[in-house]
Amino acid sequence: MAQNQDRAAQAAVAAHYGMLLGIQSPWEVKRVQLQLDEKKVELALAHDSALPVRCPHCQRVCARHDHAPERQWRHLDVMQFTTIIRARTPRCHCPEHGVGTIAVPWAEPHGRFTLFFEAFAVEVIRASRSLTQACDLLRLDWHAVQEIMARAVERGLLRRSTEEVRRVGLDEKSFGRGQDYVSLLTDHDGRRVLEVVPGRDLPSAVKLWESLPDSQRARVEAATMDMGANFAAATRQAAPLADIVHDRFHVSKLLGEAVDKVRREEHRRLLQKGDESLTGTKYHWLQGAALEGEPALAFSALCERNLKTARAWAHKETFVEFWAQPDMAAGQAFFAEWFRAARRSKLDPLKKVALTLKEHLTGLLNYFVHPITNALTEGFNSKIQAIKADARGFRRFANYRTRILFFCGKLDLAPDLPAFLTH
Ligand SMILES: [Zn+2]
Repeated sequence: MAQNQDRAAQAAVAAHYGMLLGIQSPWEVKRVQLQLDEKKVELALAHDSALPVRCPHCQRVCARHDHAPERQWRHLDVMQFTTIIRARTPRCHCPEHGVGTIAVPWAEPHGRFTLFFEAFAVEVIRASRSLTQACDLLRLDWHAVQEIMARAVERGLLRRSTEEVRRVGLDEKSFGRGQDYVSLLTDHDGRRVLEVVPGRDLPSAVKLWESLPDSQRARVEAATMDMGANFAAATRQAAPLADIVHDRFHVSKLLGEAVDKVRREEHRRLLQKGDESLTGTKYHWLQGAALEGEPALAFSALCERNLKTARAWAHKETFVEFWAQPDMAAGQAFFAEWFRAARRSKLDPLKKVALTLKEHLTGLLNYFVHPITNALTEGFNSKIQAIKADARGFRRFANYRTRILFFCGKLDLAPDLPAFLTH
């Protein structure tokens, strides 16, 4: 009698879980096993042997062959209990495709988690401050989290459209311990990272471009980049119709480096005469007009002396106005004047940068047709810094790429939930 009651209660609990999880014919919850000490509930599912099975490749109704070994999937927690689904999936025999395991409605073919769990995990990872926090919340190790992210990115890339991409940015980032580099392709208008490839040489840059289909590459109007040879050569090769726009942040960086070279040399000469005026001023010259308070006063006193460093700095500051010119003709006139002054400056590092800029003048003037910069990539820096600082595994390129595309790719990441489970 008691045994019958037990069996009836078991059946009721199984039916209840079936409803809760949306399990429907031909699947059925056979058994529910609670493990209180582990805070875990395991559901054994079975496929109704009277109902037909379909080939996973062509959906044709086929003969049953046998069952695959038992597998398990982690599902959403129920009342804070880790919930595991176990099942032996029938295998069918298709005249065309041979023996195959039928698809289950709750998971993707090789996933270890149900679609619901993956959808939830994607949200948790997206909302977490760090991968470590996501691992804690999901009670998963970082390998599993990385696996969920990789699948999500794959899904997102399949669904992504790049039809509208017209203005892109090419940029490099250091990666791992800082010895290796990756190249990034960004979409200025969509404000997203499109692709990441290892390296920063010409083949890498070509590969980066080739992540866009031929027909779409031909519609890209402009690409921002530094003044190095590789990105420009790759653009001429892979997207010859795109205008090359040299990025103003890179120009400013080159000019900043020239000022610093002048400062270091002058500092050395002043020290020989016992003059310590330039000691500790490296960052003053980088920040310049942005300084406040005491450093600002000290800086303007420095500027009033006839220092080479102050002259180099003035040339750099003047160049900022280049970007504010109303059109290309005005930009060209401004540049000619700035260039003459810089070449007469007798400051070798500055004269050298002036020549580099002149060699890249077309790409600089293209800014007046396409006023875009790699500021977007710079904006991703803090996000990417956080990705690098976080958890383990970022030194492997594939993991790094997955994380950048997961957080900066604006991809549609969640799995499609089967209609009967979402009612
Ligand atoms: Zn088939």
